[in-house]
Amino acid sequence: MNRSRSMHVVLLGPQGSGKGTQAKLLAKQYKLAHIETGAVFRYFAAQHNTLGRKINRLINVEGKLIPDKMVIQVIAGAMQKVPRKQGIVFDGYPRTLAQARTFDGLLKKAGRELTHVIYIPLRQSTTIRRLSLRRICLKCRTPWISGVTIPRRAVICPQCGGKVIQRKDDTPPVIKKRLREYLKKTKPILSYYKHRGIVMTVDGEPSIGTVWRSIKKHLHDRH
Ligand SMILES: [Zn+2]
Repeated sequence: MNRSRSMHVVLLGPQGSGKGTQAKLLAKQYKLAHIETGAVFRYFAAQHNTLGRKINRLINVEGKLIPDKMVIQVIAGAMQKVPRKQGIVFDGYPRTLAQARTFDGLLKKAGRELTHVIYIPLRQSTTIRRLSLRRICLKCRTPWISGVTIPRRAVICPQCGGKVIQRKDDTPPVIKKRLREYLKKTKPILSYYKHRGIVMTVDGEPSIGTVWRSIKKHLHDRH
């Protein structure tokens, strides 16, 4: 199987859909580079250069969204590091229709082409249930899942002894608001790609393993 050479995948799905995990599995299985926008931004924010300082100020000091122009600069930079023949899985980008359009130009310039868009929908109640279980250690920043990776009432990080908390933006009202904004922006991206016939929808309700098997099956059926 050598299709990984040309595979370029975009993952779309609300928070809690497990798309980050599926992106990692895809990267491993098909030997793709994994460009996760959040991680790329955190990496740049730690660099001591002009772009790094700008990004750091935006996300860490002002808590703002990164402007499109800068997002493109960062994605293009990350793509340049990937060998020409290697495919890429994108996680966290594009987030708007405008970004999806720019992304096409970016790929073309790099001699690449988007081959799959995997959409992992999730019921609102499931997103809320899954996100309400998220905890984070204030000291080592390790994410935990209450009742899964740490005991339900744990307040101490098993890894470093730091305090484990639930973030304020992981409460139902904030999750709902975020979800509405997400869907509003995602629907136009989906129809944009549907016209091209590259979208596959994989239900995000089942377990990570089941979702992964569905993705693989879809990919095999398609080729
Ligand atoms: Zn910790």
